[in-house]
Formats: sequence, structure tokens, C-alpha cells
Amino acid sequence: MTIAANPPAASDIRPGRLDGETLKDNFADLHAPLTAHEARVEAERCYFCFDAPCQQACPTGIDIPLFIRQIAAGNRTGAGRTIFDSNIMGGMCARVCPTETLCEEACVREVAEGKPVVIGQLQRHATEPAIERGQSPYARGKPAGKRVAIVGAGPAGLACAHELAIAGVESVIFEAREKAGGLNEYGIAAYKTVDDFAAREVEFILSIGGIEIRRGQALGRDVRLEDLRRDYDAVFLGAGLGSTNKLGLPKETELENVIDAVDYIAALRQAKDLTALPVGRRVLVIGGGMTAIDIAVQSKKLGAETVTMAYRRGPEQMKASPYERELAQTSGVVIRYWARPMALEGHAGAFSGVVFENASEDGDASRSVFRIEADVLFTAIGQRGAPEALDGAEIKTKDGRIVVDDQRRASLKGVWAGGDCVFGGQDLTVSAVEDGKQAARSIAAALLS
Ligand code: SF4
Repeated sequence: MTIAANPPAASDIRPGRLDGETLKDNFADLHAPLTAHEARVEAERCYFCFDAPCQQACPTGIDIPLFIRQIAAGNRTGAGRTIFDSNIMGGMCARVCPTETLCEEACVREVAEGKPVVIGQLQRHATEPAIERGQSPYARGKPAGKRVAIVGAGPAGLACAHELAIAGVESVIFEAREKAGGLNEYGIAAYKTVDDFAAREVEFILSIGGIEIRRGQALGRDVRLEDLRRDYDAVFLGAGLGSTNKLGLPKETELENVIDAVDYIAALRQAKDLTALPVGRRVLVIGGGMTAIDIAVQSKKLGAETVTMAYRRGPEQMKASPYERELAQTSGVVIRYWARPMALEGHAGAFSGVVFENASEDGDASRSVFRIEADVLFTAIGQRGAPEALDGAEIKTKDGRIVVDDQRRASLKGVWAGGDCVFGGQDLTVSAVEDGKQAARSIAAALLS
């Protein structure tokens, strides 16, 4: 394979590509919240369908026609309660759910007119007051004298803990990081969860009481599964995923500025001052999922001049939804499909570009090998399960993820699991919440019957 080489330029990576005011605008809320009047008008577009397809499409089964009817009747608090009954993280899900492929795609108004009821925005409207108050609308159940160990303070673990608290079961959450919230705190694009929303939602959930969080405690490093099984009445594993996948190309770990997108997004989410974050002039992202879209869009918002996403297959196979792809493209991101990375190039120890092969079956032979030069390469090609953290426990896994039944019971007695660490999960906040809720109900039934 040969390709003509241009002399590589020195990497152009520096902080402060944009001033603070511009960055503030760029990272403002993606969608402004609905006013009370807008919410009522939108709610009245709903047909309040019987056997509503939107509800069936919701992984947590929220009674969508009921909460929309409550908004239409001016009962915002009741609407919020209807949502929280099924999904205690309904506030975050209203912001980050791919509604265009879930409830809104199923809405009969989408099917008939191509214009669904904006369920996500109505859900945000309904849940906002309770989160603002910072108080769970549920009372903690009478203490039953049982204690559950939960691994991971992400959506699955928090939903599990809250549901257990309602049942009167205490929980202790072991969280590897310093902050609770999981991907909501460290992983989701900043413009989807402004104003420290993830942290405020955690406080809202913890306000029910009976939930202790121990930070800096990782499974397999600081706590062992067999100790948790011995010391607690049950264990719920909601630890998310382990390390990120590598491209498997030479020089990947040696070259400077080949960066794991997950790490950079976490740094961005925790940055107090975005002007201090180093940003490449030309950014290349390899991947086709939500993380790839998030890093690409955010790089553009941080002031990168050019951002290219390279994906080895076509748009049909891409995990990112058409809505997300459109968001990337309207933000100025160029998406190159059928681009299979073949070699990383560097100059003076720093990354300078990637040679790709056109992976399309009907590809134009003259364009079969091409190079994209860039200052930074973000890899976003998925994460692996972390079976090593299970410490040799005899728990059934598949493709590195824990196998569970429909009640989220793992193969090991007294152990339940949910969220991204289980096999067959959808890698969505809403699915993790459902897992946590179902597991808690199963745990409570097992411990309290
Ligand atoms: Fe309302 Fe659409 Fe759901 Fe029907 S499918 S209940 S119109 S939101």
C-alpha cells in the first residue's frame, strides 16, 4: 500500500481557541425549556391514545398519555409524579434519551404527520420542579433491617438504591470515582446536561434517605465481590464498562495526541474553565456511536477548525441515530463513511494523520486508500466489559458482560446486575434505570417475603 506523503506540519493544539463568552454560548442548553404556555399547547396535540405506542416504546414504560393529560390539565406536579413512578431519572432521560428512536418515533402523530408530540421536552417540563426542590416525592419505607451492596453510582445503581429505599431496604453504594452519577456526570455531552444537572439529580435521588455512597471504591481494587456477598444481604452490580477498545494499529499507544474520547469527555465535563482545555486545530474522530458524535460536536464547539468523523461502515450501520448525525453535520462535522483505518502516522513522536482504506464494496478503486491529516485523533470505538473486576467469581458472562435473567438476577446466588455491564443491554441511561428498578423489586421480593 502506498500513498503520497505531504511533509507533516507540527501539531497545532492549544487552549483558548475561543473566548469564554463564545464557549458559554456554544455549550448552552441544546433545547430551551418549554414555557408553561408552550407545554400546554403541545400537550393538547396528544391524542391520549389507548394502548399508546409511545408508552410501549419507552424502556421504563412511563404512562406517557397520562402525564401529558396532566400537563394539559395544568397539573405539572402530578405529571412529574407519573413519570417518577416508572423512572426516577425521568429528568435526565428527558434530556439524553434518543426520543427520536423511542417514544417519539412511535408517536402516532409522527407516523401520520411526521411531527410527533415532543414527549422529551414535555417530560423535562414535568420533572423540573421536583428536581429544583431537590426532594424525592417518595417516602422511605419502614426500615426492614436489610442492607444491599450496590457497585456503581451510575443510573442503574442509583435507580436500584432509590427503589430499595421505597421498600425500606438500606443500600451502600461503592463508587470508583469521586462523584456519583456515572456517565450522566462524566460521559454525556456537556450541552445536554447544563447547570450541573447530573449532580442535582443525584441529590434529588439521595434525599429519600437510607442510601450511603462510599467514593473511590472500585470493585476488584478496593472491594471484592465475595466480601460484599458475605457482608450484605444482596449485591447489585451496576459498574458500567471497563477499558475502551483499541484500534489495534502500530504506534497507537506511543504517539502523542491519540486520545481516548471517553477520557477527554470526562475531562471536559469536569473542567471548571473550558478556555484552559487544549483543543486541536484539526480533529479526527474514529467511531460511529454516540461517544464519537459527542466528542466530534464538542470539539467543534471548543473551536476546532475542522472535525472529521471516520466510520468503517455506512450510515445504515451507524449506532448514532439520524438525528444525532444531523446534529453533528449541522455543527460542522464532516462524516466519512466506509473508512477503515489502516495505519497511524506521526511526526516527531506526535500523531499527524491516519491512512484509511475505502471499505465500501462498490468503492471507487482510485480512492481506495486515502489519508486524513489531523492534530488530534480521538478513538471512540466502544468499551469492553470488565470481568477482571469480578475477581474470579464464578459468574456467567458473555462477551465480557454479565448474563442476567428477566429479573436481572446473575448466575451467582444473591447477586443481581444491570446497566451497561450486562449482556444485551442497550447502552442507554433509560435502560440502565429500568434494570436498576427491576433488580430492586426482585431483591426486595427475595429479602422481604
Ligand atoms: Fe400522545 Fe403520541 Fe403517545 Fe398517542 S402516541 S399518546 S399522540 S404522545
